[in-house]
Amino acid sequence: MAFKRSPRYEEEEEAPWTPKTDIGKKVANHEISSIDSVLETGKPIREHQIVNALLPNLTHETLEIKNTQRMTGNGRKMQFRAVVLVGDGDGHLGIGSGKADEVRPAISSGIKNAKRNIVRVPLGCGSWECGCRTRHTVPVRVVGKNGSVEIVLKPAPLGVGIVANETVRKVLHAAGIKDVWTFARGRTSGIYNTAMAVFNALDSLNNMKYYDDWERQLKHEEAEAPAPASASEEAKEGKEAASQEKKAGEEKKSGEKAKTNGEKKTNEAG
Ligand SMILES: [Zn+2]
Repeated sequence: MAFKRSPRYEEEEEAPWTPKTDIGKKVANHEISSIDSVLETGKPIREHQIVNALLPNLTHETLEIKNTQRMTGNGRKMQFRAVVLVGDGDGHLGIGSGKADEVRPAISSGIKNAKRNIVRVPLGCGSWECGCRTRHTVPVRVVGKNGSVEIVLKPAPLGVGIVANETVRKVLHAAGIKDVWTFARGRTSGIYNTAMAVFNALDSLNNMKYYDDWERQLKHEEAEAPAPASASEEAKEGKEAASQEKKAGEEKKSGEKAKTNGEKKTNEAG
């Protein structure tokens, strides 16, 4: 059977970006400067260039390349499917798959899909044994499922590391998680399902408002004062303030006793 060789894939040059969506235009005009504000709108990211512009230090990793065969009138048709992971190692993660006749275009389409699927991963220190108030593990126990695979992630103290199979470890690393305890059920040798189960577990954190605020506070503290001494000082200040308030309250009470009703009202209004 004569086999006609398909033209070799040439590295496609990234064409200059002409944004089509609202978000894309705003990003191109520098009206939006953070990926988090894009994700907060809840609108889907339809252009991968948005992520390129807002997260320049994103890395990608190919988790799996599979070839699929399909019978056609002319014989077998081969296609490649690539599962790609992108992450910035600091709370942003995306997984996507791409299909093409050759390996390289499959990977590059997978990268684009992964970027469009990017989510924020709230990090924190949810371990009761640690309490270091840095962003190194998950803030709370989470569960994620995809297909038969179920993954449980539990907050771990500093230095535990990631004890998990290769796929799970890669995804957690890309998200910026350094210490975590994992429990898995199902056919974890399936790379796509396993990666997506971890992804779903981490994405479920976005539905928890409380932890969202908590992480923002941690980030703020990190930026202001990374010294651990500040926490105790703050606590001291807090105590002093509380005792002062108490004194003030007592004075008020004694004063009020002597005053008439009319004066009381003006006091309250002031
Ligand atoms: Zn900790």
